[in-house]
Amino acid sequence: MSMQNPVFIPGPTNIPDSVRKACDMATLDHRSPAFARLFKPAVEGVRRVLRMDQGEVIVIPSTGTGGWEAAVTNTLSPGDTVLAARFGMFSHRWIDLCQRHGLNVQIIETPWGQGAPLAAIEAALKADVAGKIKAVLATHNETATGVKSDIAGIRTAMDAAGHGAMLFVDGVSSIASMPFDFTGWGVDIAVAGSQKGFMLPAGLAILGVSPKAIAAMETATLPRTFFDFKDMLASYARGGYPYTPAVGLIAGLAHSIDLLEAEGLESVYARHHRLAEGVRRAVFAWGMEPYAASLDLYSDTVTAVKVPQGCDGTALVQLAATKYGMAFGVGLGEVAGKVFRIGHLGMLTEAMLLSGLCVAEMCMADLGWPVKLGSGVAAAQEYYRGTVPAMALAAE
Ligand SMILES: *Cc1c(COP(=O)(O)O)cnc(C)c1O
Repeated sequence: MSMQNPVFIPGPTNIPDSVRKACDMATLDHRSPAFARLFKPAVEGVRRVLRMDQGEVIVIPSTGTGGWEAAVTNTLSPGDTVLAARFGMFSHRWIDLCQRHGLNVQIIETPWGQGAPLAAIEAALKADVAGKIKAVLATHNETATGVKSDIAGIRTAMDAAGHGAMLFVDGVSSIASMPFDFTGWGVDIAVAGSQKGFMLPAGLAILGVSPKAIAAMETATLPRTFFDFKDMLASYARGGYPYTPAVGLIAGLAHSIDLLEAEGLESVYARHHRLAEGVRRAVFAWGMEPYAASLDLYSDTVTAVKVPQGCDGTALVQLAATKYGMAFGVGLGEVAGKVFRIGHLGMLTEAMLLSGLCVAEMCMADLGWPVKLGSGVAAAQEYYRGTVPAMALAAE
């Protein structure tokens, strides 16, 4: 695998040089005021990225999966019911985690390629007259299928049902790359990880927690130690940490948020949309389609490409790695072999993405897939030519 080529996996993502440098620092005593000075801007920055007016930001040495575990163990008790739709590998894994913690998961089975089923969620909440459902779990961006779900719509469904459950959102592959509105959507816990939109190495679970979820800690009895928000918040109040923090990653997080805000969050989201749209043009030009079932579901951070009959998506990913030193995502679970995935989030430009589309095409040709070399690249080129923002042109 070439270490020079950009990666096109939907996380971990490419790390900007300045973020790598920001992470590389001499040992700092995490019980000194210097740590508090480093930590505060990172926490405040996450608050702005999530658009949180109230509540707490929690940063744990972990990954997104640890963020899921922290969300449920801090707020729920064994036997509690949670409502979740299953439509891909990541929604499946969060459900599995809940079940292993002794929660009763009311699962809405949804075909892969679809998003969160709003009407079914509303109906399930309306049917729950006893108020047994304590939380609704939502995977904002299903990384396995390249499907984004309508979190505002879930909030509307919850309000329409007049249900008081909490709303927990897995934003691991959306936050910092696609619009997110913690307060506006009435989210109670948002989960992110460092290695996707934040463009850092893996190693942090990043959470936003609402006052309602904080209050739920008082009665929640699932065991928790490492992930206990109470210990975290008590230490934060003293400018510290309950154990040794990942200091370098926290320094990198503050810097990566500086980069996102220097570009402007709205511009970051617009760039992701533009990059994604170019990829989709390429996919259609190849005579293929995104796995996402409809246009409104297309993710701006990852595209799962449905491969033609008789072709193997995994073979393409293997060939790209071994012959061209480039990384794409394989199909997971139910869609193994049926798709390959192009990650298009984090530090990426049109030019970088064109290199990925170009290598994907070479692999298709090598494998004898019915694709004309240059067809997808040309479609993306045409789209990018017409949509590069005026600011970039003015800067020339
Ligand atoms: C990557 C990802 C996860 C898992 O995060 P880890 O950091 O690998 O633990 C969870 N959910 C979604 C949607 C993801 O994309």
